[in-house]
Amino acid sequence: MKKTVYEWRRLSYRLLIVSCLLFAAACWLGYQLDSMICIYILAAGGFLFMLASAIVYYEFWRCPKCDAKLPNESAFFGEFNCCPYCGYKLRNDHDQVDTNLL
Ligand SMILES: [Zn+2]
Repeated sequence: MKKTVYEWRRLSYRLLIVSCLLFAAACWLGYQLDSMICIYILAAGGFLFMLASAIVYYEFWRCPKCDAKLPNESAFFGEFNCCPYCGYKLRNDHDQVDTNLL
């Protein structure tokens, strides 16, 4: 099944959260175990997840029709159903698309 843009964005946010957890774990474990290897591995993992999150976000959080990047502020100021640039319907009214961030 084809993912909706909302699902891609959610995936991106989840990846970002994982990366934050890895960075936090790197700091905490590094402090606890005093092991630089631990810090490097966890921080590298965190960096990879952050990169993956950014790639997913920039590649897929865009209008499927006109390919314009969708505005980010919708995450904080309510959702939109149509592309603000070309008016393409990003979801149908009868679709139960879960637009939650997480
Ligand atoms: Zn569009």
